[in-house]
Amino acid sequence: MSVRLHADWRAERSTSRIGRTPVLPIRLRIDGRWREVLLKLEQFNPGGSIKDRTAYALVEDLELRGRLRPGATVVESTSGNLGVALAYVCRESGYGFVAVVDPLVSEVNVETMRDLGAVVERVQRGDVHGNYLAARRERVREIAADDPACVWTDQYGNPANPRAHREQTGPEILRQTGPGLTAVFVAVSTGGTLAGIADYLRLAAPACRIVAVDVRGSAALGGPKGPRKLVGIGASRRSRFVRPEHYDTAVGVSDAEAIAACQLLRRYTGIGLGGSSGAVLAAAARILRLDQELERAVCVCPDGADRYENTVYNRLWLAKENIDAGPAPFEDAACA
Ligand code: PMP
Repeated sequence: MSVRLHADWRAERSTSRIGRTPVLPIRLRIDGRWREVLLKLEQFNPGGSIKDRTAYALVEDLELRGRLRPGATVVESTSGNLGVALAYVCRESGYGFVAVVDPLVSEVNVETMRDLGAVVERVQRGDVHGNYLAARRERVREIAADDPACVWTDQYGNPANPRAHREQTGPEILRQTGPGLTAVFVAVSTGGTLAGIADYLRLAAPACRIVAVDVRGSAALGGPKGPRKLVGIGASRRSRFVRPEHYDTAVGVSDAEAIAACQLLRRYTGIGLGGSSGAVLAAAARILRLDQELERAVCVCPDGADRYENTVYNRLWLAKENIDAGPAPFEDAACA
């Protein structure tokens, strides 16, 4: 019999628990018919979101390229989830971390990052649509230029971002669903998740339909820039990873529809998802309404409700932001 010594399991980093997230079947009632969908729940990563996978891959890539040495500091522009994930991975790996965020970031994420030892810097200037990406990136460049020990992970340009999803998220989804996988719905911001999953599934499951989900007002898939309120999903510039062959259909969801999907799912099932997962669910409901044959589609749900209690699930915030309840994307929901 082998006995695991205390010292052995302490030596094993908790980052080894990233990935292998569960798939939960649920049913949605759409036009009077119950339809099954599968939720891939990324909130079960140790840092609470799909971005743990990206953060780990970005840090590992810098280590392999000899850019990160002991005592170095990682710096990144992040709307929240990657910041929490990098704070967690850097803490586990012994690096410092500076997160450059904007006024839209949730206070919960800021507190979590600080709790994990990160330094959080907030930029204040945005463009006319309230986009802060350019200002955040400029500040990151300044920090990296000022201090040679500070290394930028570059989530928008580093191929390690989509690689994490090509090598892990994509294969996991196919293993969990089997060859009957009909469709996968993926939210887009940097596009790393979509491009990586698609690169894998195009070869391993060529019949699987891939649906890219963006929010109105986001330019991530080439649409016109405009105001938008949800964080995590969408971007103010086109993804550098996503190519037209990565998806069969693109669905643009309004903030209100995504929020309605989140609230309805929690009301009927108790399952709490983040805003981008609501967008994914609303998009899936829209396609299921059009395609009566589609069953067992996978919705990649990047994070959970815990980070959105003050926004997506908060009536005062919705009133302040003038977001009316969107059209109900489905009539009812239940655990399958
Ligand atoms: N949803 C949430 C909540 C996210 O934090 C992110 C990453 N910003 C995404 C969706 C989109 O992921 P990606 O950057 O890989 O396109």
